[in-house]
Amino acid sequence: MEGTPQVSLEAAETRSFADTTSAGFASPPLRYRRDSWLSFAPPSIGPEEVIEVLDTLRSGWLTTGPKATRFEAEFARQVDAPAALAVNSGTAALHLALLASGIGPGDEVVTTTLTFAASVNVIEHVGAKPVLVDVDEDTLNLSVEAVAAALTPRTRAVLPVHYAGHPADVPALRALAEGHGFCLIEDAAHAFPAGIDGRRIGSGPNPVAFSFYATKNLTTGEGGMLTGSEDLVTHARSLALHGMSRDAWTRYGPGGPWYYEIREAGWKYNLSDLQAAIGLAQLRKIEGFQRRRREVAAAYTAAFAGHHALVTPAERPAAEHAWHLYILRLRAGALRIDRDRFIAELTARNIATSVHFIPIHLHPYFRDKYGYAPFDFPIAHDSYQRMLSLPLHPGLSDRDVEDVIAAVLEVAECNSR
Ligand SMILES: *Cc1c(COP(=O)(O)O)cnc(C)c1O
Repeated sequence: MEGTPQVSLEAAETRSFADTTSAGFASPPLRYRRDSWLSFAPPSIGPEEVIEVLDTLRSGWLTTGPKATRFEAEFARQVDAPAALAVNSGTAALHLALLASGIGPGDEVVTTTLTFAASVNVIEHVGAKPVLVDVDEDTLNLSVEAVAAALTPRTRAVLPVHYAGHPADVPALRALAEGHGFCLIEDAAHAFPAGIDGRRIGSGPNPVAFSFYATKNLTTGEGGMLTGSEDLVTHARSLALHGMSRDAWTRYGPGGPWYYEIREAGWKYNLSDLQAAIGLAQLRKIEGFQRRRREVAAAYTAAFAGHHALVTPAERPAAEHAWHLYILRLRAGALRIDRDRFIAELTARNIATSVHFIPIHLHPYFRDKYGYAPFDFPIAHDSYQRMLSLPLHPGLSDRDVEDVIAAVLEVAECNSR
């Protein structure tokens, strides 16, 4: 938008529509335009993180050690997990979950098409076959009926993604798992902290993978956590550090023996104490972060629910939503513009947005390898074309939220059929 004058909201309100057509859009006029770009999901970093990282820098121990151990313990306590392993990404946690569950060549893993590529790439990494299914219209989580229909004698795991932070139907999937004998591996990249039926996501003995990527509800810059039973986490811990029998802290820590053995060819997935330090500070603030996320989501829904062109996110009664993402869908046929143009109009108003996600079956690698067509998963495909994600993070001020609401409503109003 080069050449577009930066105008404040107050100033913009007094300007005539004719003044603003120079922005490059014939319609609609830009009545609401922020002075400054509103970021989509910047990390919420304060002096607490700085102090904790400095403490680590001065401690003489930078890699995986006492802070990672504390981070694991405090995270496990927060989600009621039997055990937890801190790793250097959510993708690593998912990969370890599949490895430690013994998933490999010849096995099928059922998962949703509406997810980030990492959920499915790791299935490829272990040599198993991803079997994609469609989502439910309301939550956009994988459909339990579709999972049931996709099961074969080769199904070894089902991998639900708690999409946008709304938990998938874990109780129904667990019942299905018991009947069929597959294991449940949860992608909880969006779901810290979340719950269903009063149980925390991550509290079960099955593997659950969390992400602490820079945009996630809790961040360590890059990082992740695997929760599950003691046995599962112990195996994953060795796999995450070359397949070694002992980690560096127990070898180089006070009085540690030098000897170790390689039990299998493992990976290098450990989380450093520098990153765990950020996580420890973030954990202490997560309740406040979540309160603000819920407030912002509630304000968006109050403003958009009932609008003829907008579909707000669903929240099922048994679900405790982590509100990682706020996914707005445009109602089919209600507007004269498509989703891409809707995003361009918000960009012109200095509001960042995103799209979560391009369905897996549309990506060339999966499309070509497994012969998927766009309408194989009609709900995911149709929702993808109508969805956008609005800014949602604890740093949003009331004024920021008002700006997003005003801009969305203006674009919807000016382009209604
Ligand atoms: C972020 C994300 C991941 C991967 O997490 P990283 O920490 O970036 O490896 C996996 N699945 C989903 C759905 C995600 O959004």
